[in-house]
Amino acid sequence: MLAGAYCRAVEKAGGIPVLLPALAILDRPLHSFCQGLLLSGGGDFDPAFFGEEPHPQLGTVDLERDRWEISLIRKARAEGLPILGICRGIQALNVAFGGTLYQDLPAQYSPAPNRPLLEHNQQIPGDQVSHRVTIVAGSLLSRVIGPTEIWTNSHHHQAVKDPAPDLKVTARSDDGVIEGLEGTGDHFLLGVQWHPERLANPDSQRLFTAFVRACQPLM
Ligand code: MN
Repeated sequence: MLAGAYCRAVEKAGGIPVLLPALAILDRPLHSFCQGLLLSGGGDFDPAFFGEEPHPQLGTVDLERDRWEISLIRKARAEGLPILGICRGIQALNVAFGGTLYQDLPAQYSPAPNRPLLEHNQQIPGDQVSHRVTIVAGSLLSRVIGPTEIWTNSHHHQAVKDPAPDLKVTARSDDGVIEGLEGTGDHFLLGVQWHPERLANPDSQRLFTAFVRACQPLM
């Protein structure tokens, strides 16, 4: 099961995963029942949240989930809870903070001249890597992972377009697609476009370890 990989990664990092259903209203603080927020992968984001009409290549959307995740992100941010966004999660972070997305990379994204668009929807199994990601030196992501150049898996046809004003780009693939975002302050706020929960290398586990560690002071 897909959720199992996230749960195992959090558990291995010393955390206790708590899965939340999409509720209509959440009228109590997040910190009353969890210490951090991990946003998992999933389907496409409804472009209405960033003021666009649906593109013909847009996949299945789930308004209820979109609304729920945006409200969770805003609550987590207001309460200062650590946030880790994975794949769709980095996109949710960007939209919740006021940024936009490419609804379909192959149809809407043009890399710089002489740089072909990479295959971001890899056909090989998810536990294998398919493209390189370059991480900005000195960023939270580089401090967590270590190397500034890594190979990642890639299972997305949407991606961050205009980053939200309060988020900075800290990783890109060789064709320029944004693969990492983080906050500008001390708050642990990190998004990655790949799926570290499906990779069995130390770089990937370090992301979960750093996230769970950031959640500890609140326990
Ligand atoms: Mn990718």
